[in-house]
Parts: sequence; structure tokens; C-alpha cells
Amino acid sequence: MARRGILRGKEDNLVKDLKETTLSFKKLGKKYGVSRQAVHDFSKRQGIKRPEKPKGHQTGECRLCQRLIQINKKPHSEFISIHTIVEETGGSRVKCLSHLRTLRDKGLISEMFGRLHSKRLEKAYAIYFKKRLRIHTIGRKVGLKNFHAIIRQHRGLGYDVPPSLYGYDGQKKGRVRREIQRRK
Ligand SMILES: [Zn+2]
Repeated sequence: MARRGILRGKEDNLVKDLKETTLSFKKLGKKYGVSRQAVHDFSKRQGIKRPEKPKGHQTGECRLCQRLIQINKKPHSEFISIHTIVEETGGSRVKCLSHLRTLRDKGLISEMFGRLHSKRLEKAYAIYFKKRLRIHTIGRKVGLKNFHAIIRQHRGLGYDVPPSLYGYDGQKKGRVRREIQRRK
């Protein structure tokens, strides 16, 4: 093919594009000044495996995406670990992560959903939200030494961690005290 010569010298770039982008053969052909067929043949000769195209799919019609959006609507869903999300959707981890990224980019799920990687932390937070226990006690129950520090770190990262139920009484007392002070 006469136009094949144009490709020479740019082959490395094309290999990179084929491996790292989801641009179609047609678009790559335009970019490199060769036909769609030439890019296709080249890709085949090189034995290149092209990456999947998560962006081309319709979120509204993707069952995995819909299920992920549903789970994200649960209270405190940011604290559901990726392990549990994978289990609940029945998908693979890689697939879940890829669709989560797409949904995040589109603003369809909250920024922190699907980022927790520890099942132990998921357990600790589940207790934290339900029971009026010292943070230290919860940590001991699940085998975490530094749950307190982790909570602080998570808040810094943007996780929405509500105040501890254990501390709630203290706040109430404070409010009552301030009220008494005000009436004096
Ligand atoms: Zn999807």
C-alpha cells in the first residue's frame, strides 16, 4: 500500500495510541495518514490488545451502573468497601472500578463512593453509625488500633463522617449548660 510509508517512523506512537487510547481505527488512520484497514492490519500484526471502552456505554442502560447508583443511595454508602460492592453487584473488581470511575466523572455518584478498600474499616464504621460506643472500643472490637486517627484522616480526605454517637450526649450537656448560662 502506497500510503503505508507515512506510518514509518511513527509506529511507536501508533502502538502507544492503540494500547492506551480507545480511539477508533478510523480516527487513528486519519491521525497517521493511513487507511482504517492499514491501522487494523498493523494492530493485528503487532498483536495489540486494545483497552475496553467504558465511556462508549450508556450508563442508563448498563445494569452494573444502575446497581452502583442504587447502592450509592444507601445511607453512609461511602463507607461500604469495594469488596462488598463487588459482592453485591456480582461483577468483577476491575469492571466495578472502571464503571465507578465513569459514574464519578459524570457526577452520578458521590466522589468518595467505592474508594474504601478495607472490610475491617467498613465494619468499624457500621458500628460507629449504629452504636453509642467509644471510638476506641469500636477499634478494639474490629482489631483497629488507630480508628480515631483514621476517622480524622478520612474527614480530611472528604469523607462525610458524622460526629460519634458516643460524643452526642456530651454535646447535649454542653448545650444545656449554655442554655442555663444564658438564662442566668
Ligand atoms: Zn456501566
